[in-house]
Amino acid sequence: MEKKIKSSASFSLTWIGALIVIVAIALTAIVSWFLYQKTVELLTDNLRQRLLSIATTQVANIDPEDIASLNTEEDWKKPQWSRVVLQMKKAKQNNENIVFMYIFRKSADDPSKLVFVTDAESLNPYANTDNDSSNDVDANGDGIVEADGADQLQWPGQDYPEPPDEAFEAFEGPTTNRELYEDSYGKVLTGYAPIRNASGVTIAVLATDIKADDFSLITRQTLYPFLLFSTFLVLIIVILSILLIKIWNKRVEIFAEIDRQKDELLGIVAHQLAKPITAIRWDLESLLDGDLGQMNEEQKKDANVMRGQAVNLADLVSMILDVSRIQLGKMQLTPQPLNLNEFFTEILQVVEPTVEQKKLRFIKNMPKTLPIVLLDKRYTRMTVENLLTNAVKYTPDSGKVTFDLKIENGIMRCSVSDTGCGIPKEDQGKIFGKMYRASNVRNTVEGNGFGLYVAKGAIEGQGGKMWFTSEVGKGTTFSFELPMKEASGKA
Ligand code: ADP
Repeated sequence: MEKKIKSSASFSLTWIGALIVIVAIALTAIVSWFLYQKTVELLTDNLRQRLLSIATTQVANIDPEDIASLNTEEDWKKPQWSRVVLQMKKAKQNNENIVFMYIFRKSADDPSKLVFVTDAESLNPYANTDNDSSNDVDANGDGIVEADGADQLQWPGQDYPEPPDEAFEAFEGPTTNRELYEDSYGKVLTGYAPIRNASGVTIAVLATDIKADDFSLITRQTLYPFLLFSTFLVLIIVILSILLIKIWNKRVEIFAEIDRQKDELLGIVAHQLAKPITAIRWDLESLLDGDLGQMNEEQKKDANVMRGQAVNLADLVSMILDVSRIQLGKMQLTPQPLNLNEFFTEILQVVEPTVEQKKLRFIKNMPKTLPIVLLDKRYTRMTVENLLTNAVKYTPDSGKVTFDLKIENGIMRCSVSDTGCGIPKEDQGKIFGKMYRASNVRNTVEGNGFGLYVAKGAIEGQGGKMWFTSEVGKGTTFSFELPMKEASGKA
């Protein structure tokens, strides 16, 4: 029993510990992820600000009148074209982070579409498609010159396929892409700055792509300290939890040992008391029987009271012995043939006097004949007697006590109901505990709280189960089921 308490306590503690660790890991992961996201947001904002300032600075070097003059495919031959292209080329050379620069405007035919004006690589937009390889342009610097795709050069009026929303927003004012994106230049972020004419009207937009590969690396690297921090925190939590569980288990062990020693002591004391009490009982019996000479009425009365108290004391001592045995797992059950007819008649007779004294209605529902079965007589009797005496004790005068007994398929089903004081809800979970008494009777009705503990132990020790239902002011029903074997022969 003690072992069971100890192991169930450490088992549930291990679960609580595991739960704490899981919650701690989840919390640490969430907090770290949140901090990481915030840092990435800050870094991205910072990058955007830098990009915006690059884009707006570059646009100051572009002459809007040059842009206004570049409209058709043939316009690349104009001096304004080379001026603008070279201007952008220079900007690119001065800032190694810029991978590409280009200018676009809204299509004259359809303002919902964008068309290119020029870019930093297309001094000759046909350099990659003519037959002269000496003027080829490797726009993305990957060592391969492709006429289309990555190294496609632009000419005025060429379609800008699938422009992002930010490209349109840039006609209102400088902006950047919201997300990084990947193209033939690697991870890129684009900044847009409007090119406005003398009257302040946006006639085109200058787009600047900057390399963000380093940035991605930096943001990824910011995750490492967070991961390290999280791992460290989780480790500390796990170590602390293990330590706490160990300390707690040690305490549980110490308490269980103290409890065991207390029960052992209780058993020893009860055992030592049992012998002299029995001797006193028998001495009083022989005194009352007149073995030591006749007593007058006064002396008989006193001796009778003493005998009654000795019997109560003997019952209490045997109850304490039982409690200690159950607690130490040393309850010894000896099944023996039991004539249930005689067994229940005897028990019911014990409670009859108090039933009559309290003017209770006592209803007995039980089969007329009962079998002879194999059961531990002392423990089974103690159980039934305890339930009956409790029902009588906790029911006010003129109430009702009902005793039900059924024997079906080798199982004894017994219940004792009363119309007594009931057990308050808050006490019900502890009512089978050792020495527990409910708050509504603790100071008003005599008792010691051992009976139900022993009764439940006795039933469970014989493979049965016990339970109850109760409502304050209405009454209580205690029930048990006990499997039993029929005995052959006579009890
Ligand atoms: P005791 O009756 O000596 O106090 P028990 O172990 O037999 O000890 O019962 C424990 C407690 O359970 C009682 O103190 C009482 O609070 C409650 N109890 C038991 N039986 C009844 C009942 N029939 N009606 C109301 N309360 C009960």
